[in-house]
Amino acid sequence: MASEITDKDLVKLNIKPKLAVLATISLLGMVVILLILLKSITESLYHERQLQTQQLIDMGTGIIRHFHALQVNGELSEKSAQHMAMTTLQSAIYGGTGYFWINDIEGILLMHPYNPELVGKSVLDMRDIDGKYFFKDFIATAKAGGGWVDYYWSKPSEEKTYRKLSHVTLFKPWNWVLGTGIYLDDMEAEIQNIVYRAIAIVAVLFIILILVSILMSNHFLKQLSNLATHDPLTSLLTRRFLCEKMPILISNHDRSIQAYLAVIFLDIDHFKNVNDTYGHAYGDKVLSQVGKAILKSVRTGDIGVRYGGEEFVIAMSCNDKDEAIQVAERIRAEAHAIEFQKGRKKFSVTLSAGIAYRQENEPFENLIKRADEKLYKAKEEGRDRIEY
Ligand code: GH3
Ligand code: MG
Ligand code: MG
Repeated sequence: MASEITDKDLVKLNIKPKLAVLATISLLGMVVILLILLKSITESLYHERQLQTQQLIDMGTGIIRHFHALQVNGELSEKSAQHMAMTTLQSAIYGGTGYFWINDIEGILLMHPYNPELVGKSVLDMRDIDGKYFFKDFIATAKAGGGWVDYYWSKPSEEKTYRKLSHVTLFKPWNWVLGTGIYLDDMEAEIQNIVYRAIAIVAVLFIILILVSILMSNHFLKQLSNLATHDPLTSLLTRRFLCEKMPILISNHDRSIQAYLAVIFLDIDHFKNVNDTYGHAYGDKVLSQVGKAILKSVRTGDIGVRYGGEEFVIAMSCNDKDEAIQVAERIRAEAHAIEFQKGRKKFSVTLSAGIAYRQENEPFENLIKRADEKLYKAKEEGRDRIEY
């Protein structure tokens, strides 16, 4: 028989550490993908916000231009055109912390929805926590064609200042600087929110991955271990399994836990004829059925083994020699009772068996050899019988 996989071989396969390595690699892979994804999300969020701010500035400029056109047409005086433009923009509040302000190029604040106390005053000398004269920067940037200024400013209804990125533009006819911006911490909070959600998703995916791999590896290990210990054709135990279990039976026998350690060696009579007459495939079917008869006849704890092609061994501990004979007889009767039919031909098989009982300090190989000799005798005596 081909050598089977043993439990020891399975341990040698080191499946668990390999799975752990695989899980670590997957986790690292997920983290790398997460980082790449977050980088691109952050970048696109920044980009989107900047674009949005620029569009808002364009819209604000459009409002100013509209009232300026009314002034040019003579429909409004410059004062009321400016007043109406400022009032309109003052009420253009968006996204919680978004608003417009207007200052002139001399540094006088003309409109600010949240700091009315500064309106009409010069803010040119205002500095942020980094010492930056940001209104000077607004004016310079606006004069240079408009653009971004990065500084610290308070939020509506808050004393504390936050980093802010504002877009400013110059409305030349009135020498107005129009500005609006984004508080970076709002965006960072949004990014943090995305990060937390992404981490939660990765964690859930990772846990699912781990659970699935544990379940799968357990399933495969069980299947492999079953393959190692069970003959697929007859469902009986394998010869290798018997060799592994034998030392336990021997030591139990040495300690006289049970009086006898018996080995029954069984062989199907004239099995070659079965193959020759009904074909090898049908021969397999016969073997499988005989295997079932053996399983049905042995007691719990007995080791029923497919030892070779059509040879079987039962190793069993018993208190009485008759117990082994009874088991062997049961197997012989059960196997013989099976009615096989191929086409119109019906037949049954007979079994011969030899039984040996372990003598003091006898090695297992010798015990098997003696059982085999008894089997040989049974064959010689005409088959379909048990020798002990
Ligand atoms: P005896 O009564 O002396 O035991 O005669 P026998 O024909 O059973 O003995 P022999 O050992 O000459 O033949 C055993 C046959 O079993 C030969 C081999 O082709 C067949 N055999 C062994 N393993 C398998 C198997 O897995 N499937 C099938 N179908 N046949 C098998
Ligand atoms: Mg045979
Ligand atoms: Mg044989």
